[in-house]
Amino acid sequence: MKIKEILQSKGSEQKIHVKGWVRTRRGSKHVTFISLNDGSSINSIQVVAESNNFDEALVKQITTGSCISVSGKLVASKGSGQTVEILANSIKILGNAEAENYPLQPKKHSLEFLRENAHLRFRTNTFSAVFRLRHALTFAVHKFFNDKGFFNLHTPIITGADAEGAGEIFQVTNLDLENLPKKVDGKIDFSEDFFGSKTNLTVSGQLEAELGALGLGQVYTFGPTFRAENSNTSRHLSEFWMIEPEVAFADLNENMDLAEEFLKYCIQYCIENNAEDLQFLDGRMEEEESKLKKEERSEMGLLERLQFVIENNFERLTYREAIDVLRNSKPNKKKKFQYPINGFGDDLQSEHERYLVEKKYKKPVIITDYPKGIKAFYMRMNEDNETVRAMDILFPTIGEIIGGSQREERLDKLQARMEELNVCQKELWWYLETRKFGTCTHSGFGLGFERLIMFVTGMKNIRDVIPFPRTPQNAEF
Ligand code: ATP
Ligand code: MN
Repeated sequence: MKIKEILQSKGSEQKIHVKGWVRTRRGSKHVTFISLNDGSSINSIQVVAESNNFDEALVKQITTGSCISVSGKLVASKGSGQTVEILANSIKILGNAEAENYPLQPKKHSLEFLRENAHLRFRTNTFSAVFRLRHALTFAVHKFFNDKGFFNLHTPIITGADAEGAGEIFQVTNLDLENLPKKVDGKIDFSEDFFGSKTNLTVSGQLEAELGALGLGQVYTFGPTFRAENSNTSRHLSEFWMIEPEVAFADLNENMDLAEEFLKYCIQYCIENNAEDLQFLDGRMEEEESKLKKEERSEMGLLERLQFVIENNFERLTYREAIDVLRNSKPNKKKKFQYPINGFGDDLQSEHERYLVEKKYKKPVIITDYPKGIKAFYMRMNEDNETVRAMDILFPTIGEIIGGSQREERLDKLQARMEELNVCQKELWWYLETRKFGTCTHSGFGLGFERLIMFVTGMKNIRDVIPFPRTPQNAEF
């Protein structure tokens, strides 16, 4: 039986068989108490082993981290802290844990230390809660879109297209790097590469998702995404997971409505289905924050913040309005921003995003209609010819969580932008053809899955919400 199930039953002396990993063992001459966890729940079950039933040598081996199998009966607990416990009549050691060498001692370890021990961190309260929530969110994403009649589309991981034109790509090749085939002009001859052309890992499935939407109506991708940006921040991974819905006939307003409803749904799903994990993480966050200086603490606890996001409308404003607010803000006037805001055209840095969300509006903010110069070629041009129908959703403590837009559906306008930005039209012939044949208004967005998990769990470093983070200089495990 899984411990989650056991903890929900009454202790009426029924026979129980359970396997798991020992969190702690304590006891006296007469009795040993073992706290056992199998990952099914944040809560462990107490196993009681009376000394006259067990060999002392066996009990000695039941140390923190060892894996055991227990048979016994479930009884009402005499102690406080749990309602039921297992009175053991047999215990088998499945794998002992070299007590002195096991890295996870029953004390608080730093997140950095646990990152170095990513192979074992699933056995801690914090990380088991985080990864159960990661699962819950995955499930919520699929359920949300399935219930709305979207189709999940698997877009390629290896691709010839660099969707953003940003160039932060990982190249994929099976050429012999010590002995590269060269053309007469000295450049590498990619016609001899595996796919007969230069290929890379995808930075976004959007362009392909658009093709799907212009036939299937509404689709979403949910897959790994790779970016070779050399930014060692707490919000960027080199390999992360992105969810990208794409909807035919939807304009920017409908796109924002969908995104807002989607985020709220996912958070609500966790509140309803993972209450114990969230409660644990709420307590954890409170403890962490109590170590901070007063002005660095958040105004709300984790659960309170999640509830707040569900219950309030996101603030929607245009980029021009945001720039006005920022230009006239206290930190800008007092030159407190690292990047001062001068006016139209300035890119919003995370310090600006956090000011708007955390200080000014105190809730999620959607900024629309950015200058074309700081956004991608495929976003729909506004009448002013200066701004595009983009929208970014900014979240407290996270910054940008979603980036999206209404797509440019007019062939001539799209081609003009590609020309201006030097995007190769020949390579993207298939993308352009969808504007030639039966084009229509359509919109979509990309949600960074790990950033959503950060928000829901209260974890402050993105490396702590993905099982095995890939970041510059690090691809261990
Ligand atoms: P940022 O400005 O934070 O780098 P971006 O503008 O590069 O984000 P998009 O290209 O719009 O982001 O990607 C869509 C979403 O994917 C972002 O809103 C964010 O949630 C997420 N995202 C982008 N880059 C990363 C990354 N390196 N690691 C994790 N998530 C990311
Ligand atoms: Mn980026």
